[in-house]
Amino acid sequence: MKEIKLYIDGKFVPSSDGKTFVSKSSSTDEAIATCHMPSSKDVDAAVDAADRAFHSKAWRDMDAAKRSEILLAISGKIKERSKELVELEVHDSGSTVRKAKADVHNTASFFKVMSKVAASFKFEEQDEAASREGFSKNFRRYEPLGVCAQIIPWNFPLVMAGWKIGPVLATGCTTVLKSAEETPVSAGILAEILDECGVPAGVVNIITGGAEVGKQLVAHPKVAKVAFTGSTAVGAEILKNCASTIKNTTMELGGKSPNIVLDDADLDIAVDGALYAFLYHQGQACDSGTRLLVQDGIYDKFMERFLSRIKDIKIGDPADIATGYGPLINEKQYKTVMSFIDKSTQEKAKLLTGGKRLSGGVFDKGYYVEPTAFEVTPDHTIFYEEIFGPVVGITRFKTIDEAVALANNSKYGLAGAVWSRNKDQAQVVANRLETGTVWINEYHLLNPGMPFGGFKQSGLGREMGVEGMRAYLEVKHLWVSDCDPRDQKPWFDALF
Ligand code: NAD
Repeated sequence: MKEIKLYIDGKFVPSSDGKTFVSKSSSTDEAIATCHMPSSKDVDAAVDAADRAFHSKAWRDMDAAKRSEILLAISGKIKERSKELVELEVHDSGSTVRKAKADVHNTASFFKVMSKVAASFKFEEQDEAASREGFSKNFRRYEPLGVCAQIIPWNFPLVMAGWKIGPVLATGCTTVLKSAEETPVSAGILAEILDECGVPAGVVNIITGGAEVGKQLVAHPKVAKVAFTGSTAVGAEILKNCASTIKNTTMELGGKSPNIVLDDADLDIAVDGALYAFLYHQGQACDSGTRLLVQDGIYDKFMERFLSRIKDIKIGDPADIATGYGPLINEKQYKTVMSFIDKSTQEKAKLLTGGKRLSGGVFDKGYYVEPTAFEVTPDHTIFYEEIFGPVVGITRFKTIDEAVALANNSKYGLAGAVWSRNKDQAQVVANRLETGTVWINEYHLLNPGMPFGGFKQSGLGREMGVEGMRAYLEVKHLWVSDCDPRDQKPWFDALF
């Protein structure tokens, strides 16, 4: 069984008060790793290490090309250890093998893209338009923000850790990353990889733990930036806690994403796309397409095919490569999902399919919930509340204006999609959606070179792409006088 220690100041150390817990498989309930739970002293030690590293010459003076090399080396090592990472991620997070493979591949790609972004980013640049010959030379200098506290959820553990650590290394910040205590294992392996790739001691510290550890990190006076991915409710609490020390923040929060099918959509692709949109990783994805809006003219045909295709989904042991749909992460999430299903039934939303826990054989070892669809209106709770499980609410609409109004009728604004054979028409709709990502005839695909994040209560700021890197930089205006004679300076007689 794996042992996941705390990674503090370049060393793998046990918890100072000896506290450990066992991380269990979502599909077999077997113990997969013993994990060290940091004490409050350990959290302080991790922040102190990050603070020392931030001010160290070794890190401050390391040029962008060297940091870019380290990022590339990390990408390579992730690929080398992909088999082990996939196996651990399948058990720790209940991911199917196919999803875990994609996660490992995507994390390696992300580090590679960050390596390129770091190498090409201009950390200091003169603004020719703002500068005036004989008067001033004006420069922008981008400098690392400082010590970061990074807090991630359990649904895409390795990907989320990568998205956080990549820009830290690219910019010259330092960090304490806290994995979710439900899924601490892959971040522990990532610590080993960073160590092997020459990340200097203290630059990245990796610990796990729950809300209390997160709160201590957020409140820490030496932390300059908090990057959080998780629920909107916890994000709001963190923002309040950041206010007293004016911390910089990036917030990647919840979603309730609209998925719009227009009359002229390719039926086969749109149906499979709609299923993939809300059922990928059993619906435990922030950008899940859980509000399916289908136009009147295609509605009946669409629903007939949707309800037939949903029966073809390969539900089973996530470790089996044939499986497309596995268990929920744990009992707590299962109870949350079932409570929304029960509420929808009480509110008389029409249940179209699913709604129950699966049992027998492999299903008895985890929490498997049938893919579930309800017909809903904006009055139903599941039209607007995020569930984070395999439940979709389907709503019929007549006109494009109606679709846009339904889609934007949400406090969230993370993602959305439009399905249509007419891509120009689809783009007119896409442009009107209040969301950070919109796909046309696609879903869930992300490009590490492009920004990801939410409008409205789905977040603040962006991850990935050059925007994701800028989120870890302060901009300094450097004014160099190009006007040396005293009497030509505009202020020379201001006081005299
Ligand atoms: P959560 O908000 O319960 O927990 C997220 C993390 O915050 C965990 O590591 C947890 O230990 C920590 N935490 C909890 N309370 C805290 C506090 N008061 N102070 C500091 N840290 C605290 O979320 P979850 O259940 O782990 O994940 C599901 C949520 O994450 C969903 O809402 C989902 O949409 C969202 N999510 C968003 C994105 C995105 O990119 N926008 C990606 C993945 C998940």
